[in-house]
Amino acid sequence: MASARVPLVAGNWKMNFDHLEATYFVQKLAWLLRDAHFDYRHCEVALMPTFTSIRSVQVLVEADNLKIRYGAQAVSVTTQGAFTGDVSADMLSQLGCSYVIVGHSERRKYHPEDDANIVDQVRATLTAGMQPILCVGESSEEHRQGIELDFAVGQVHDVTRDLNEEEAARLIIAYEPVWAIGTGQVATPQSAQEASKAMRDDLRETFGPHVAQTVRVLYGGSVTSKNAMQMISQPDVDGFLVGGASLDAEEFARISRLT
Ligand code: PGA
Repeated sequence: MASARVPLVAGNWKMNFDHLEATYFVQKLAWLLRDAHFDYRHCEVALMPTFTSIRSVQVLVEADNLKIRYGAQAVSVTTQGAFTGDVSADMLSQLGCSYVIVGHSERRKYHPEDDANIVDQVRATLTAGMQPILCVGESSEEHRQGIELDFAVGQVHDVTRDLNEEEAARLIIAYEPVWAIGTGQVATPQSAQEASKAMRDDLRETFGPHVAQTVRVLYGGSVTSKNAMQMISQPDVDGFLVGGASLDAEEFARISRLT
């Protein structure tokens, strides 16, 4: 990755860990990363618990003055009112969330999250002062057709065309080929680099060099400590969105140390 951007290793816990398990995990991770060889200024480490665990993580992070950051896996596009089951961006930012994952392929598949809803989630997240981690990436069908670059760039473009330069600069993109999520099939470092570069080039064209140089592009999809090193050596890959491997504190700490 390029030296100007601080890498981010974000753990997407999905629907795993209750609040007690989440607390235990955070304590263990902080302990594993406590030594002088790890510097949070050179690698941001973040966890995305379920809504029900965020408050517990916040209490622990504040009490122990931990450098671990955290966020949510989705957000409501509305601010308050009669929206049963929704959680607003302000509620999340009041709990100290730094990030919200937006448009994860599992949300696009299992919930009615279309392009318009994803744009609104990005806007709600930015308005509340947090950073969206916008997930994009092709399915195996687009992969087979060889149109993955256009597809991923198009998904980013659907969101960025509604943003101004200042908003776009606060975006984080996670390139996650759908066929690589939870399958053990990881993209090659070269293809992750190509996709990340294509998205960065598109940002440069739309917003200019500042946004292109600022936005972090993460890779996600079957990341482990075995494949992370080659991936992070790519100039346009700025970290990871880690699913399965983020449920093991030792493995997640190993991935964080590689960046
Ligand atoms: P995975 O999930 O690491 O288990 O493939 C990544 C993700 O869904 O963000």
